[in-house]
Amino acid sequence: MTGQPQADCLFCKIVAGEVPATVVRETETTVAFRDINPQAPTHVLVIPKAHHPDAASLAAAEPRVLADVLAEAGRVAEDEKIDRTGYRVVFNTGAGAGQTVFHAHAHVLGGRGLNWPPG
Ligand code: 5GP
Repeated sequence: MTGQPQADCLFCKIVAGEVPATVVRETETTVAFRDINPQAPTHVLVIPKAHHPDAASLAAAEPRVLADVLAEAGRVAEDEKIDRTGYRVVFNTGAGAGQTVFHAHAHVLGGRGLNWPPG
């Protein structure tokens, strides 16, 4: 059921502390941790603690938590000092767009030049 921890979900296991991660920020509703395969000098994932399969599902079910995720993305950018140089917040949605973990997450990417449009 959406919102409830899923036994087979990697990011639910990170929230529960069952899978280790380099956590950089945590709030009542969110966790931010470094991506295991970084695509930029800063590559942090911000996730809701509650399980929702993607950002749109999270927005529909718990819009305030989606706002928390975005606010935390901004705080990560400040912490990492990429807020002045510019950074990107990405929600890959669906396998065709590169989503591989079906627990909503924002990628926060920065610390290098970022091309547009993304590949
Ligand atoms: P997606 O492809 O779904 O948009 O993003 C999933 C992200 O999770 C990828 O960037 C991938 O590198 C990252 N990832 C996959 N497994 C792990 C893990 O065990 N720990 C961490 N920290 N990141 C992971």
